[in-house]
Amino acid sequence: MSLDDAQLMRYARHILLDEYGIEAQEKVSAAKVLIVGAGGLGSPAAYYLAAAGVGHITLVDDDEVDLSNLQRQILHNSERVGVNKAQSGQQTLQALNPLIIIEPLAQRLSDADLDRLMPQHDVVLDCTDNFATRHAINRAAVRHRVPIVSGAGIRFAGQISVYDLRDDQAPCYHCLFPEADDVQELRCATTGVLGPLVGMVGCIQAAEALKVIGGFGEPLVGRLLSVDALTMQWHTVRFRKDPKCSVCGSTT
Ligand SMILES: [Zn+2]
Repeated sequence: MSLDDAQLMRYARHILLDEYGIEAQEKVSAAKVLIVGAGGLGSPAAYYLAAAGVGHITLVDDDEVDLSNLQRQILHNSERVGVNKAQSGQQTLQALNPLIIIEPLAQRLSDADLDRLMPQHDVVLDCTDNFATRHAINRAAVRHRVPIVSGAGIRFAGQISVYDLRDDQAPCYHCLFPEADDVQELRCATTGVLGPLVGMVGCIQAAEALKVIGGFGEPLVGRLLSVDALTMQWHTVRFRKDPKCSVCGSTT
């Protein structure tokens, strides 16, 4: 798609970047992004992707805004306590950028929903807070070969990786985190989380999504980036596809 004057003005500081340019902006403006979760990670991720002009953002959350969310979930505000998070997010994002389409989905996604939505989107952002949904998103993304930009944050610890499932050689989420029954799940509601920690992780997810869509730079494929916000130490660990992975491994 070619960009009009309003788009050229609004996205000028991205277009000025040599690696980005008009070419990546055209891809970003034509892109459809699925963001699952409009909470601590989804808020900054969606904010920056809307600001960057992603043409169509589908924002999914079945939960309602709670007063205790506002310490970190910056899409929402005090007046929207009790409002569905996808709908609250749509209002904030649409006010920021009226040139794009924001589609709120106020529901929990079933496997059938994921199978319907995946082929309609260029990339999915996993901004959820539980392993069951993460694995469901991964299975659907493997089936439909849609790249996942995955983020997680709890207490002071954050993690980001990109699973580029368009590439047969790239690992999936299950290669790194095999599904297990005995995994102890930490929830922000009971353990606490530093607000800017999920802000940082969500911003990195937005940056990685723009790279995947725009085709520039080196996305975090096969690399897990971790941060400890207490010491502000960052680490990168490399990992490979598990050829025996029950989700993405060879079935022959
Ligand atoms: Zn796998």
